[in-house]
Amino acid sequence: MAAITLQNIVKKYDDGFPAVNDVSIDIEDGEFIILVGPSGCGKSTLLRMIVGLEDITSGELKIDGKRVNELAPRDRNLAMVFQNYALYPHLTVFENIAFPLRLNKAKFSEEEIKKLVTDAAKRLELTDHLDRKPGNLSGGQRQRVAMGRAIVRQADAFLFDEPLSNLDAKLRGQMRSEISQMQRRLGITSVYVTHDQTEAMTLGDRVAVLKKGVLQQIASPRELYEQPVNLFVAGFIGSPSMNFLPATLEGTYLNTPIGNIPVPPATAKAAEGKELVLVGVRPEFFEDAALVDDRHRGNGSVFEAEISHTEWLGNEQYGYIDFEPTPEVAAVLQGLAKDMDADELRPQIVVTLDAASRIRGGQPAELWLDTRKIHIFDPRTGENLT
Ligand code: ATP
Repeated sequence: MAAITLQNIVKKYDDGFPAVNDVSIDIEDGEFIILVGPSGCGKSTLLRMIVGLEDITSGELKIDGKRVNELAPRDRNLAMVFQNYALYPHLTVFENIAFPLRLNKAKFSEEEIKKLVTDAAKRLELTDHLDRKPGNLSGGQRQRVAMGRAIVRQADAFLFDEPLSNLDAKLRGQMRSEISQMQRRLGITSVYVTHDQTEAMTLGDRVAVLKKGVLQQIASPRELYEQPVNLFVAGFIGSPSMNFLPATLEGTYLNTPIGNIPVPPATAKAAEGKELVLVGVRPEFFEDAALVDDRHRGNGSVFEAEISHTEWLGNEQYGYIDFEPTPEVAAVLQGLAKDMDADELRPQIVVTLDAASRIRGGQPAELWLDTRKIHIFDPRTGENLT
């Protein structure tokens, strides 16, 4: 096992543009770190530099305190874990796991190989499947065989590059929990690349969010969700995404396109002195006012809105509120879309409602909003001011 340290890592490809720009991350021994971000943000490049498949333009990469920038991939003792490929279909599970040992120049005896493979199989709950071929295994079992290979050669860390991206949603969910359980059981330092924020939030001890080669925030999933440092992280983490509403402060009210929202003093203070701010409200901060009990009601405020339509998901509902943007608000939304790498941001917000809510589309509705949880962002810098 090993700690991995990235210090001011930069990667420039031939075009000179930094695909990874001054990224520093301290990965602790045994930690599970997720690198997440939209396509092209540099997460695979970062992983490939760690494993040694890509040169580092500048900065320092250390494994257990030792600089490894110039070390060949095979000398770094790190294991890339793939899901679909890299298992030999004609070999049994036993032989697949034993493969790196047979390749090793150290020449393990048959007895040693048997011991190492059976030990690894036991830890990965594969003992009953050692005689099978990969074709007869579930996706999860195949993933564990790939991890078994890394274990027998005592790799210091596992590196995963979008291992679940080709699977259907159900299988992905199962595999996600398998990987998470195995990583925690084995306690092996792991770096996992994904563009899927759900995977990032459920797997990692800490999640590093990247945008255009720049590290935006690295924090626990909970902290990312509750305290995103900027608009980009706030919009990327959470599903459905956080709503952003251009607003002006009037006394203790935020004047927004969906109405005037009274806010707590600390929130008002964050917006003070700004001509315009962006209010960030997650869909789940809203509720059908009729379903909020008296104890909670005082933590937020009730307002009227017209829900254009609802979507019923069984355990909850989504309600959509369309609003007519002023030209100024439309311009802010356009700028925001560019910042978020989205084609457009519709003048619409999403609210989640309890499955029991009787609110229906096309009718005025009373909504409750937990105003304690509102974020205020600077529209110019994107910084979270709350
Ligand atoms: P994806 O999720 O699409 O794989 P990513 O976040 O993993 O994206 P990278 O593959 O690391 O992103 O790419 C980061 C940037 O570097 C992109 O702009 C990409 O076009 C560029 N890039 C990647 N590989 C090369 C290469 N071999 N030569 C030149 N540019 C490259």
